This record gives sequence, C-alpha cells and structure tokens, in this order.
Amino acid sequence: MIRWNLKERTSVGGAMALRTLPWVTNLRQKYVFSMIIKPRIKGFVCITAHPTGCLANLKDQAEIASRSKIESERKPKRVLVIGASTGYGLASRVSAAFSAGADTMGVYFERPPKGEKTASAGFYNSAAFCKLATEAGLSAVDVNGDAFSTECKEEVVKKAKETGGPFDLVVYSLASPRRTDPVDGQTYRACLKPIGVIYKNKTLDTDRKEVKEVTIDPANEQEVADTQKVMGGEDWEAWTDLLLAEGLMAPGCLNLAYSYIGPEVTWPIYRNGTIGRAKEHLENSAAAITEKMKLAGCGNAYVSVNKAVVTQASSAIPVVPLYVSMLFKIMSELGTHEGCIEQTCRLFSDRLYGDSDEVAVDEKNRIRLDDWEMEPEVQRRIVELWPQVCTENLLDLTSFAKYQEDFLSLFGFGHSSVDYDAEVDPGNPF
Ligand code: NAD
Repeated sequence: MIRWNLKERTSVGGAMALRTLPWVTNLRQKYVFSMIIKPRIKGFVCITAHPTGCLANLKDQAEIASRSKIESERKPKRVLVIGASTGYGLASRVSAAFSAGADTMGVYFERPPKGEKTASAGFYNSAAFCKLATEAGLSAVDVNGDAFSTECKEEVVKKAKETGGPFDLVVYSLASPRRTDPVDGQTYRACLKPIGVIYKNKTLDTDRKEVKEVTIDPANEQEVADTQKVMGGEDWEAWTDLLLAEGLMAPGCLNLAYSYIGPEVTWPIYRNGTIGRAKEHLENSAAAITEKMKLAGCGNAYVSVNKAVVTQASSAIPVVPLYVSMLFKIMSELGTHEGCIEQTCRLFSDRLYGDSDEVAVDEKNRIRLDDWEMEPEVQRRIVELWPQVCTENLLDLTSFAKYQEDFLSLFGFGHSSVDYDAEVDPGNPF
C-alpha cells in the first residue's frame, strides 16, 4: 500500500539526486512528497522498497564488517565492484569499505524513484552505502548503468581516472536475466532449465506457502548458449581487458567473480542445467584472465564458490527457496549459518587478506566459501529431510519463516528499528 501526502518543503536538499520528469522535480522543490510504504510482492519480487529500512540494513552490514577489520598490509585500498547494489556484490563493497577501509566504486543497474513509485531496493542500498562510507571518510563513487554496455564501461574508466586511478581489487558480481552484447547488438536471455532431461522435483510456492511438484522441460541448444552469453565469463573477461588496457589494475590486483555449486538435489536444475553450464564457463575463464593479468604484472583472477543465501537472484530459481529454508535451519542449529555479509567478511579476512600470502583454493583453483554448506553432516541432513518435507510440516522441518524475513529484508522491510507506519519521502529519504 502506498499513501501519498504533500507537505510544503521547508528545506531542500539531501544526498540523492532525482532524475525524474521536470514538473515532478519542480513540485519536489516546493513540496515534500511523503508516503507510507508497504511491501507489494509479485511472485518472487517485491515492487516497492523502503529507503529507511535499506539504510538500517546497510548500517547493520557496516557494523558487522567493522567488527572484522583487516590488518594485513595487502588489504585493498581501491575496489571496483560490478553488481554492487544488492546481495553478494553489495556485501563485498561493504566489506571492502568497512573491514578494509577501501575507497570503492560501485556499478549497478537500478531504478531511481519516479512519480509515485519507490526506487528499487538496490538504488536505496547504494545511496545508503554512499552516505555511510562518506561519513566514515571514504570515497564512494557510483555508476548506475548497464554493465554489459560500452557506455557504462567507458563511464567507469573515466570516473576511475578522475578519482584516484587503478584498483587493487575487482569484484564481478552481476546476476542478470539478459545481456545486450555491444559487439553484435543482440540481446541474449538467460534461462533456468535442465539440460538433456525433464526435471521433476519438489519446489516451494513462497506466496502460497505450499510445497508442490515442479516439472521443467530441458533447454534447447540455443538456450544453453544464450545463458552462457549472459552469465558466463565473456563479460568478466571484457571488463578485465578494458581495465588492463587503461592501466586500471594495480600491481598485485585481485580479480574475483562468484559462483555456486550446491547440493545434489538441485544439480539437475542448477549445476547440470543452463545456469551451471554458464558458471562452468565463468570458472574456466579465470585461468585465461589470470594469464592476461600476469602478463600485465597484476595478481590473480579467482572464482569464489559461495554459499546459498536469499537474494533477488536466488529467489527466482525453482527449488532453491525450499532448499535454502532447510539449509538455514540445519546450519543455524550447527551454529554455522551465514548471510552475504558474513560470507564476504570471511572471504576478506580468511581467504584474500588473511595470515597466509597464498589464497587457499580447491583442485579447480576455486575459493570455497561454501565449505560449511557442503559439510557432509549438513548435506546428510538435507538428503534425509528432502523426501519428508511437505506443506503441512514446512514450518517445523525448515526455517521458512527466516527465509520470508530475509526476503522482505532485501527490500528494506521488517527491520526492528524502523517505523513502517511513518511517512517517508521516497525521492529524498536520507
Ligand atoms: P543479486 O540479484 O542480489 O545482485 C545482482 C547485482 O547485479 C545487482 O547489484 C544488480 O544491480 C546488478 N546487475 C544486474 N544486471 C546488471 C546490469 N545489466 N548492469 C549492471 N548491474 C547489473 O544477485 P546475487 O545473488 O548477489 O548474485 C551475485 C553473484 O553471486 C552471481 O554471480 C551469483 O551466481 C553468485 N552467487 C549467488 C548465490 C546466492 O545464493 N544468491 C550463491 C553463490 C553465488
């Protein structure tokens, strides 16, 4: 529900620039638009976002990251995060700033507020991040645009050169349903389908709180290739080529992308499906990217395989919400549950900038932050619970309530410190 109120503005200003219709801008200069913002969920997205809630979430993340300070001299000073506004990319940016004290540049594709529509959560998250980083004396530069496009890449190069030059850590954390390739001008769409087999399994209808069966037909060759075009390593390599050519990777620079493997119950739809094929391509690209970086005197490219968490991207994948609800219960009982920010803190403090100069990797040169998720005891319990779970016992056998909390929290809702009945100006909230 959105309720609008128009009050005369007493002072004009604030950190967020509004890009909107001129008459709205004029009105905004004269009046404060304030409204009560409630969640409006459509399938696996929420079409409203609460700015005060997003700020409260960012404060929590910054607080967690500041408790995990990086002391190493190797810690990064200038960090570029591509896909920086939500999920793993946002948490990486928060860790870079508040654990390592780095200046950051964030690239993302988010909707600003317009008329009676709130901005997307990632837009508010980024404004909140910039506010907190600036207050902490750190530089935070944003580029809101399509990271696959030449224009966006050029904008990053321009702003990087204006604001301090080369990066010593680059994080590639895009999750996108489509990509327009600037080379051939075509738009490719990713899909979530099995390859070579029909997939039948349990899934969770999160709206109806129902465990039901889902059947998904296999992808054709075109769909497999298109998904790889969107979520494989091609664009990561293009970013690397550009940053190297422009002298924007410092000596020793690390270059990181994220992947997922997950449990056997999800393999047919995830790891052995279209998205898994794209992730394999991404993982294989790391070797070629490292070669290029070495030639230029930079460090290494790594893929970090992360744990399953609730993000806008993961809630769209069939079966994953059910698996994640079970996983949360099991890992919470074992005391090993982590969200994005705990994962990226561990990535920075244990894996990238810990005591050892060597980054610990598996036999395929991947960092394994999913180690606790993949522990035999956790996976044994998943295999045991999976056949038992149904609509009637959903709340007993899984942490579905926590899943729902995390989902709402992605959009700034459900934070204990926020008064959700208070009016807020969605265009100028901070
Ligand atoms: P997310 O949806 O929370 O974030 C995606 C980010 O990409 C956002 O910042 C969004 O603005 C940005 N983005 C999307 N399209 C863009 C475009 N065209 N131009 C610029 N920015 C764009 O996703 P996430 O779940 O954090 O996923 C990030 C990475 O982490 C992915 O590679 C994903 O596979 C991986 N990962 C996720 C999980 C999980 O459980 N969510 C687990 C392991 C690995």
